[in-house]
Amino acid sequence: MNVTNMTELAEPPSIVRRVTGWYANLLLVAFALLPAGLIAYLYFLQDPHLLYESHAFHEIAIASATLEGLFVSYVTWQCYRLSGEPILRWLTLGFTGFVVIYALHGAFTPLAHHHMWLFLLYGPASRFVMSILLFVGLLSYGAPSDLPARRVDPFFWIMWLVAFAVIDMLVAVLANSPFAGALFVRLTLEGGAMLISLVNVACMLARRIRSPLMQIFGISVTAFALSSLAFIFGKPWNHMWWLAHAIFAGGFFLLSYGIVQAFRTTRSFSTIYSQEELMARLREEMARTESALLELQRSNQKLEHMASIDPMTGAMNRRTFMDRVEVEVGRAKRGGAPFSLLALDIDNFKRINERFGHQAGDRVLKGIVETSLEAIRPHDGMGIARVGGEEFALLLPQSALDVALMNGERIRTAIQAMRFEGGADRFSVTVSIGIAQYGQDGTTSDAILRAADERLFRAKSHGRNCVIAV
Ligand code: GH3
Ligand code: MG
Ligand code: MG
Repeated sequence: MNVTNMTELAEPPSIVRRVTGWYANLLLVAFALLPAGLIAYLYFLQDPHLLYESHAFHEIAIASATLEGLFVSYVTWQCYRLSGEPILRWLTLGFTGFVVIYALHGAFTPLAHHHMWLFLLYGPASRFVMSILLFVGLLSYGAPSDLPARRVDPFFWIMWLVAFAVIDMLVAVLANSPFAGALFVRLTLEGGAMLISLVNVACMLARRIRSPLMQIFGISVTAFALSSLAFIFGKPWNHMWWLAHAIFAGGFFLLSYGIVQAFRTTRSFSTIYSQEELMARLREEMARTESALLELQRSNQKLEHMASIDPMTGAMNRRTFMDRVEVEVGRAKRGGAPFSLLALDIDNFKRINERFGHQAGDRVLKGIVETSLEAIRPHDGMGIARVGGEEFALLLPQSALDVALMNGERIRTAIQAMRFEGGADRFSVTVSIGIAQYGQDGTTSDAILRAADERLFRAKSHGRNCVIAV
């Protein structure tokens, strides 16, 4: 036996739940700060003069980053187009701006020696621009969705592309200016990117934004800040410099993973739910479905009942009656006691309608159903069926012909004793009844019904108002 042991299955203490929550948060923080450990490792333990200068590798890496960046920009824009969330507009711009500016850093790799600043400055400039756009994105988190027309307005996007091209030119001008090599220029761009990213994460934490995708956003922005830190410590081609690239790539991978998750689910950054929320929603929905199902079952039963009765008299309809007869046939065939069947027809009913009106006729039909059921108690459980306009049938389970005859007589006299109102007059009606029994009149429902009908017909020819059972 499967006996539920309540003490064994009790929920773990609530403290365990709380501790697992803390642990999960701790893991997120540890994961976000992991690059800081790598930076410290290189800073303290590696010779900063060790270089790995591979132009080809640098170009391939940046070409892949550019392609990936374009793809992610496009997917982000698709999410924005469908959800209209302002944060997604800023993320699209952030990725696009990064790609347009950073691509030149890759393109100018061959100039690494002849024109170092033209090569180098596009890196920090791209991160600076992206960090600003991501920060503005966070500030717009939760703002109402943009109108659909605005989302696809080509002018808006072209203006921004122009702005990024202008930034490209400004960087070129800067690279050719006497300030190109000034420490403050690189520190402003790289340090600025780092600071803005840190403020971004701080704002996110202060606003207690906790949705799963925004957690990914926070970890990615932390990676961008740490990559800028590594770039500040690094020198072109040394390991710190390569590590900086890797940290940035990690952040970018993670953020684009979030974007793809959004794209494949709700196309929105704020309505991706946590697992806890999803479970709660699921429970709610299941409860709602269950009660809807019960409601449905109830109305199905009601419909079934309505489909099985004659609405005017409340008697069974022919189909339901025949089903019951079939059940009785089965029971009798398996050795049960035989049952009997009564066919009942109102005498000269047409005349009643003609003399007292159709409504009076209807009252007669209803009265006959009630009186018949009264008369055959306790057999009324099997009920009476209206099998034609003014024709009825009754099933008497476990009743042989003699018992059925007694009941038929009782019905006939009870109906004869009824009085109906027809205008100023009072009138009575009579019925004729034919009875058949399972076994001696056949063993199929058709045969028994036919025998009862044939006797009913004979009752009519015998002058009506009588019961015939043989
Ligand atoms: P008999 O004694 O031979 O059975 O004569 P009868 O007039 O009862 O038989 P017949 O079959 O000729 O007529 C049946 C009548 O029942 C015809 C129809 O107007 C009437 N009827 C059928 N359904 C209804 C109903 O729902 N309401 C009313 N008021 N009359 C009905
Ligand atoms: Mg008839
Ligand atoms: Mg009749």
